[in-house]
Amino acid sequence: MTLLEVENLSTDFVGSDGVARRAVDGLSFRLRRGEALGLVGESGCGKTTAMLSLLRLLPPAGRIAAGAVRFDGDDLMRLSTDALRERRWRDLAIVFQGAMNALNPVRSVGEQIREAILLHRTRPRNEIDRRVGELLELVGIPAWRAAQFPHQYSGGMRQRAMIAMALACDPQLLIADEPTTALDVMVQAQIIELLDQLRRDLNLGLIIVTHDLGVVAELCQHVLVMYGGRLAEYGPVADVFSLPQHPYTQRLLAAFPDLDRPDAHLEGIPGTPPRLSDLPNGCRFHPRCPLAIARCRVEAPPPHQIAAGHVATCHLV
Ligand code: SF4
Repeated sequence: MTLLEVENLSTDFVGSDGVARRAVDGLSFRLRRGEALGLVGESGCGKTTAMLSLLRLLPPAGRIAAGAVRFDGDDLMRLSTDALRERRWRDLAIVFQGAMNALNPVRSVGEQIREAILLHRTRPRNEIDRRVGELLELVGIPAWRAAQFPHQYSGGMRQRAMIAMALACDPQLLIADEPTTALDVMVQAQIIELLDQLRRDLNLGLIIVTHDLGVVAELCQHVLVMYGGRLAEYGPVADVFSLPQHPYTQRLLAAFPDLDRPDAHLEGIPGTPPRLSDLPNGCRFHPRCPLAIARCRVEAPPPHQIAAGHVATCHLV
């Protein structure tokens, strides 16, 4: 059953020169309940802006230029600010990149989770302490540690605590922005396992924003590859990873270490992603694409369906 449907979402940023530049351009995808989607691409490709757009949490220079975001039947783009504020946390929650370092150092972790519950008034006051303990245990932290302060937690535990806080109001969709960045490999694996378990146990929709294709392979059923603010490829992880159709996806995968073939040669992607102030015409990947033809420099490729649910935007597919 579809939980989230994003259709043709476009977001502009207005620079200090007053010119609007398109940071997210015509993004469309769907997410079912209990399913995880990996949103991948290099830094600056528009992943985080896309997520902030669908939550309508853009900074002042950003504005939604077009598109619909249907969540559980409602178009979030049409809700009043107050109605949307109600939906955030209760229905959709986000764990921001690096949030585990933003815990208040002078207040206990339990107090901070308590505050999140009180802020959104989802429980009677006399149930809140019990709920704090439940949430911590849900993410694998013993309830007694609620009284401890962030510096008494390891990095992995602080990340778990941030996930507990995001789950405070029983959301149906959790967005996690780079949830394993800055954690060591063992702890990364534990956070991936936790998110996967929460997805299954709570029938949670998950969007994982990451540059790590290994996280997507382990956790996600679908993947959306972005480049220059546009969808490059979207489809089931098994299809996209085994038979990538877009030259950018092919390059991303070739640049990523494969645990089954540790001796395999890794090829980096020559060049750098485009800056928002200097987006190329036509296909935005053409300056780096080894397969580019003349048409790529002038005409943006439309989405092309390769198989059911598998789409790539390239003139050659
Ligand atoms: Fe490369 Fe052209 Fe395809 Fe873009 S449209 S990915 S430049 S071949």
